[in-house]
Order: sequence, then C-alpha cells, then structure tokens
Amino acid sequence: MTNPQKQIGQLRRQIDHHNYRYYVLDDPEVSDAEYDTLLRDLQKLEEKHPDLVTPDSPTQRIGAPPLEAFGTVEHRSPMLSLENAMDDDELLAFDERVKKRLDTDEYVTYIAELKLDGLAVELIYEDGILVSGATRGDGFTGEDITQNLRTVRAIPLRLMNGERTPASVEVRGEVFMDKQGFVLLNEQRLEREEPPFANPRNAAAGSLRQLDSSVTATRPLRFFAYEVAGAAEPLHSETLEKLKEWGFPVNPHTEQCRGIEATVRFSHQWEEKRGTLPYEIDGVVIKVNSLSQRIALGVRSRSPRWAIAGKFKAQQETTVVVDILPSLGRTGAVTPVAKLEPVSVGGVMVSNATLHNQDEIDRKDVRIGDTVLIQRAGDVIPEVVKVIMEKRPKKTAPYKLPDRCPECGSDVVTPEGEAVARCQNVACPAQVKGRIEHFVSKRAMDVDGFGTKLIDQMVETGLLRDFSGIFTLKTEEVTNLERMAEKSAENLMAAIETAKTTVLWRFIYGLGIRNVGEHLAQVLASHFGDLDSLMTASVEELEAIDEVGPIVAASIVAFFAGESNREIIQRCLEGGVKLESPSSRPSLSPLGGKSFVFTGSLEKFTRSEAKAMVERLGGRAATSVSGKTNYVVAGAGTGSKREKAEQLGIPILTESEFLEMVDR
Ligand code: NAD
Repeated sequence: MTNPQKQIGQLRRQIDHHNYRYYVLDDPEVSDAEYDTLLRDLQKLEEKHPDLVTPDSPTQRIGAPPLEAFGTVEHRSPMLSLENAMDDDELLAFDERVKKRLDTDEYVTYIAELKLDGLAVELIYEDGILVSGATRGDGFTGEDITQNLRTVRAIPLRLMNGERTPASVEVRGEVFMDKQGFVLLNEQRLEREEPPFANPRNAAAGSLRQLDSSVTATRPLRFFAYEVAGAAEPLHSETLEKLKEWGFPVNPHTEQCRGIEATVRFSHQWEEKRGTLPYEIDGVVIKVNSLSQRIALGVRSRSPRWAIAGKFKAQQETTVVVDILPSLGRTGAVTPVAKLEPVSVGGVMVSNATLHNQDEIDRKDVRIGDTVLIQRAGDVIPEVVKVIMEKRPKKTAPYKLPDRCPECGSDVVTPEGEAVARCQNVACPAQVKGRIEHFVSKRAMDVDGFGTKLIDQMVETGLLRDFSGIFTLKTEEVTNLERMAEKSAENLMAAIETAKTTVLWRFIYGLGIRNVGEHLAQVLASHFGDLDSLMTASVEELEAIDEVGPIVAASIVAFFAGESNREIIQRCLEGGVKLESPSSRPSLSPLGGKSFVFTGSLEKFTRSEAKAMVERLGGRAATSVSGKTNYVVAGAGTGSKREKAEQLGIPILTESEFLEMVDR
C-alpha cells in the first residue's frame, strides 16, 4: 500500500501548482473536473488521516496569494470559497447538516441563485462612494484593482439613495464576460495575433487583472452583485432588494425555496436551461435566507456552513479521433483540429475539437485512433481534455504538425518560446484577407469604406493579392465589381488617395508584424524615424530599445527578412505611400517622446483618459517606473511607484499640475 503521507504531499504539490496557474496566471493546465478530482482525493485522504491535516493544505485555503504587481487590500471579513455538492444527494446531505446544527425539523428557507462563472470581487463604498475594489486573493488579502473595476460600467461609482446608505458598505459580486463579448474579444485578439482566452472566465479574470486599466476599459465586462458583508437586513432576500435599490444589477433568476427539494428542482431546471443564458454558469448557489440562522451556523476555514454550490455536470463525453487536420487561420496560425466520431455533448453534436497547438498535443499525447475525453463549455469550441490510454489501439504514432503550410506550401514556424505555429508567408491566400483588413483598419492606414465583404470580393476575383494592391487599383476595376455603385467606387478611390500620406507608425502597425501592436509601432517609429532604418535593424539594435524584448526583436527581424514582405512594402511605396516620421511634425507633439506613469487613485480623470491625453500629444503612458520615465503623476494614496520615482529623482506631478502641462 502506498504511504498516505507521501500521497498527500504529492496531491498538495499538484493542487498548489494548478491553483497558481488558475488564480495567479489565469492560465489553467487542466480542466476544472480534473482539478476537482484532485482536490476531492486530497479531502478524502485527509478525512481518513486527520492527523496529517496542516494549515497550509489546499483544503484549508482559498484561492492563491495576490500577485505582487498590484497593491493589496485586506478584506474586512474573509472572502470565502463555497463547499461543492456534486449531485442531489450531496445537496440533501447539506440540508441535513444545516438542520442538525440549527436543531430543527422544520424546513429551512433557502435562496437559490445561479453560480456565475467569473471571478468574485469586493467593492467598498464609503458614504455612498466607491473607494476600493479588490479580488478575492487568498480570502484574506486581495489585489487592489479599484481602477480596473471603475471601468466596469455595471458597477456604480456612487450608490443610488446615497444619503440613506450606511457610512460603509462592502458589496460582493461576480465580474464576468458574456458569451458574445467573449467570442468578439477572441476574434479581435486573433486579428492582433494575440493568443485567445480559453474561456469566458479566464477572459474576465485576465481583463480585470490588467496592469493597465485602459485595457480593462475596452473589455466587455459585466457584473452581478450577490452579497453584502455584514448586511443589516435580517433576510438575504431583503439584502438583494437593497442592492437593487442602491443601483446594482442583481441576477433576476433568483428564487426563494422553502426546503431543499425546491432548490434541487431549481438546480435541475437551470442545468437543463443553461444554454439559453447569454453567459456561462457552472452551477447554482444555495444560501440560507435568514441572517440569524447564518450566524448560528457560522463558517469553516474555507467556506461558510450556510451556503453550498450545486455543481453542474461537466459537459464531457468520450469519442474517437478519426483524424487530425491542421486548420489555417487568417493570421497564419496553424491550429491542429481533431476530427471526431460525432457525439452528443450536453445536447449538441460535436465532430471537431481544438487541440490548440503542438505543445498541447505533446502534453496530452493525442494520436489518430485514440479514444479521448472531450469537453464543451457553453458556446466555446470543444476541446480534448485527455486520452483514455487504456483504449489506445496498437500501432499509433505521435502526431506532428506539418512543417509546410497546407494552403501555400511555405514554411510553418513555431517561434522560440511560443506555442502557436504559423505560416510565414504573408501572401498565403488564407491570410491575405485578414491582413488586408488589418492594414486598412481605422487604427492602421484608416481607409474609409473598405469592408470585409469588399475585401473578400476583391481577393476572390483576383483584384487584390496583398495589401499593396490597393494603391494601384483603378476606378473602373472597382466599378466592375458586383454591386458596386459608381459613387461608392469613387469614394473608395478618394479614401485610398487620402490614406496614402500617413505617419510612419500607422504603416508599421498596418504591416501586421507579429507582436507589434499599435503602441510598439509608435515606439519603433519614434526610435528609428524612417522605415529603412527599421527594416535593416539587427536583433541587437532592436533589443536595445526599452520596450523591445528578444521575442519581439526576433519577430521583427524575421518579418523584414521575408522576401515577399519586402516586395509588398516596396510596391506600397511605389504606389504612392508617403510616410511622415514623427519628428517631422514637432509642433504637434508637446509631450513628444515623454514617458508618464500614473499612480494612486485619480480624481480628475480616469487612467484611460490620462493615457489618451498623453498619447494625443505625442507622449507615452507606461505602467511601471524606470530610468526612462520622465514624469510620475500621483493621485491619492500611492505607494511603491512614488517611492521609486523619488529614489530615481523623477519629477512627481499632482493631477492639477499634469492638467496644466497638457493645456499648454
Ligand atoms: P467556486 O467557484 O466553486 O465557488 C465560489 C465562488 O463562486 C465565489 O468566489 C464566487 O466567485 C462564485 N459565485 C458565483 N455566483 C455566486 C453567487 N450567486 N453567490 C456566491 N458566490 C458566487 O470556488 P473557488 O474557490 O472560486 O474556485 C474553485 C473552482 O475553480 C472550481 O470549479 C475548480 O474546478 C476551479 N479551479 C480550477 C483549477 C484548474 O486548474 N482548472 C484550479 C483551481 C480552481
């Protein structure tokens, strides 16, 4: 028999690792079902060997310690996790325990709520004004994400009926992303060649834990309030009403249940209907309604005794991988897709599942012919969770993605330190449309009137082979396109003419070099001043720039080394593109090249407004203080950034001083 102590140690190490990946990095390696099994195994072992339970065991702790990059907030009362009920029997057993502790045979009144799959936050209002917002962290200390939470539109910055609210209120609720917002966000990320989020929960967590709140502001985050710590109302149902009065969104699918049976019905009903909701839920939360009963029941180290989460079955099934095919995205990413023997998962037929990338295939060792466990989360593409090794047929071979693009035959390369393989040829037909779309987009060359349909049509009729082609288009060629009115063709030609003269950074951004977003394009433009110097820069020269790391430097050099890329650029210039370097318009940039860091809680403007002001005037807003920072703008209550600025002798401005400076 294995040594229980050793087994416990092993499980704890595994769980700690997954907690870190999940809570700190927002990048889990295993499915929730796999994680839950590990935690349950540990709980069972510890129940059998209570002498081996230690306070640092993951069964005794919540979440993970806050990330150092954020300031921390101590919760006035701990933000606990919830005990899980995996089936109806466990819900009934919960009710038995509640009744026993309350010493009653009468039914208990519960409030049944949906369990939103996002992340818990705490909002503190003083005299009706939002003063602080934090993540749950390890339950005792969370991350200070006040600035980011301010950008979530559903969170009131000031309570309604403020004059009648208590001096201090701690509201708890869930920040989440709905399915549609999640799909759109991932589409945008793919366009910008950023890795997509695995699911809406990760997307919400990643967005809220951004160091730059102007990024959070662009994410479609939603919020439902569900708890007030230390509530004054005698019933939870009254607290929920109070939250609505204060202006919080409260989930409408909340039900008062007399006795546990009604909560079981509620749970079944929503497990069935979960697909009809615009957001993900992973269960229901059953809470004792009476506050005095809650107090009598009390809390354990990890979770309250008065609530339980009824978890829905993971939407998982097993099936056979009949083939693995590389699928080519618009940005050149080559994603392996498992073709499956069709199977119904949660009522939906599934015949494809994503394998993400080669690393994932290797880690899970998925082979053609394998029986696999697949999982579907809402509307998200199903994924392969794991291989059922016992069912592996004889004579299977590990799968390797092809090193040639299935579409154009060019090299497929996985850059060092990255997971996604990409076709290196910008002229690859599968990528052409996406690249043109990016090149003409608002934030790049900004050519008015170039919609997706028009681009598709131009590529399909052979009018465009790459984005350089737009500069040699002739009016009659455009007019000849189906459904193209003469006037629209003329407008388009005029828009192209206007777009030809632009600033260097927009062109650099428009090229769609991997890892070079808008901001980096600006950095590169102001550093090199002209296109030639950038095109001939070495990895060393690039790495010497403050914000350019080895991965970015390598991807820039690789891009300009590609012959077809150089030819496309040449054709753009021959077609009449004129690039103004930033230094040729000094009068427009009073803050030209100056770097600002904003810290503390700002009252006169939000962080994203500040960033926009700085960038409009040719400066740059950074998130951390370094030798390259020119000014730190400090609001109230700042800590380490102010200290660092003082150490480095960087001028510290008040908000008013900053406003004066930009007004000039
Ligand atoms: P939990 O998600 O099971 O339950 C507590 C949370 O429920 C609260 O913090 C809150 O965020 C949420 N919640 C949603 N609606 C609520 C409502 N109406 N009322 C109250 N709370 C509500 O517990 P947890 O500790 O946050 O996380 C455990 C979950 O995380 C498990 O599902 C586990 O599988 C997953 N996890 C996965 C990994 C992994 O590697 N895949 C690692 C760690 C944790």
